[in-house]
Amino acid sequence: MIECDVLVVGCGPAGASAARAAATMGAKVICIDKKKEVGVPVQCAEGIGSYLFPYLPFKIPKHQLKWRIDGIRFWVDGVEIERKGGFWTGYTINRKLFDLWLSHLAKKAGARIVTGTEFVSLDKMSSIHCISKGRNIEISAKAIVAADGSESRVLKELGEYNPKPGDVGEVYSWEMNGVKLGAPNLEQIYAGEFAPGGYGYIFPKSKKSANVGVGIPLPKKDPQEYFEQFFEISSVKKQLGRGKRTIEKSKKEIWGDVSKKWIYDNVIVVGDAANQNLKPFIEGILPAVISGNIAGELACLNASGQGVQERQYRNELKKRLGQHFDASAEAMAVIEKIFRLKGKSKYVLFTGFISQVFGVEKLQQLEACTSTELKRKLMELA
Ligand SMILES: Cc1cc2nc3c(=O)[nH]c(=O)nc-3n(C[C@H](O)[C@H](O)[C@H](O)COP(=O)(O)OP(=O)(O)OC[C@H]3O[C@@H](n4cnc5c(N)ncnc54)[C@H](O)[C@@H]3O)c2cc1C
Repeated sequence: MIECDVLVVGCGPAGASAARAAATMGAKVICIDKKKEVGVPVQCAEGIGSYLFPYLPFKIPKHQLKWRIDGIRFWVDGVEIERKGGFWTGYTINRKLFDLWLSHLAKKAGARIVTGTEFVSLDKMSSIHCISKGRNIEISAKAIVAADGSESRVLKELGEYNPKPGDVGEVYSWEMNGVKLGAPNLEQIYAGEFAPGGYGYIFPKSKKSANVGVGIPLPKKDPQEYFEQFFEISSVKKQLGRGKRTIEKSKKEIWGDVSKKWIYDNVIVVGDAANQNLKPFIEGILPAVISGNIAGELACLNASGQGVQERQYRNELKKRLGQHFDASAEAMAVIEKIFRLKGKSKYVLFTGFISQVFGVEKLQQLEACTSTELKRKLMELA
């Protein structure tokens, strides 16, 4: 039996950040991950928004910021608009190197990172059973952080993983090389019938490489079929047609709450497992680092017997990212409503809304417009 104060399950951005924070406060921390190597395989489009930098618990070194992003180009039914500057700017990172860097920060703070070790079951909320390199291991911890992502086994073990249809969707994605991007410093978001309820994306990694994918909250067929349909769009084909799919990066992703609470006794849930990514762009890397820092500090308090309350956790996160999570929840409600509309115009409304060209207060009025009228307005106002 191995003993520690805080056991973190998952060494993604949320787990590594939680492990770092708890170890910094003096706790004996073990962070396990089922992956053999931290950050591998990468299952992400690797985009981060600069607007979140001020909320981070530490600075991201320049060498982690691999490719500059000046904005987003939105496409719907042959119409293209661009949003640049401020909120729309950011970087493409290399998730493998980024996650590794975060795990090094945790290690430097004193946490023990143990890879190739899978959480299997939980006994009386304090002792966990895992399998490491074929061997059974028991770890006893005073507090546990569940940072094990969109299909959280910790939540499943607790009987608290209860997604409704659409809460856990699919992102079918590939890294592509040898592509010919129209604007290599702009991300691209595509909406249309090929992606009901979701969208296609091209996130550049360099002039000639990009992460390309389609995210669907409620897939009705094999996710790859949506992706192949995405490639039928002429501007997609033109840019990517000669490129090679090199690394598959598909994964399930969180669109809604899979559990009611973020704290179950001495277990604190964080990151994707707690639906802490920002919609509509399912931006979860930096929010996971920020919430991971909070969860790690609270887990440390939990381990020292100071019983942490759900409200305290939510308030701490609200202080940092409250406005962004409020906007995210509102966006989800609006998008669900838009996608309940009939006809093609919903894709234009969706694009207008997520590009922040159509304000939420105007949407009801705009619902009466035809697709052609909406496209004209979109171009006029962008
Ligand atoms: C295809 C795709 C593209 C995305 N693109 C972007 C993007 O461009 N920008 C952005 O900000 N966000 C993006 N996201 C979302 C982002 O990846 C997540 O929000 C973020 O990774 C959440 O971090 P996390 O630490 O909570 O979970 P994860 O990064 O999923 O980490 C969870 C860790 O837990 C480990 N684990 C799971 N189960 C166990 C177990 N039983 N035992 C031990 N370890 C376990 C996993 O191996 C993993 O390392 C994307 C998501 C997907 C699927």
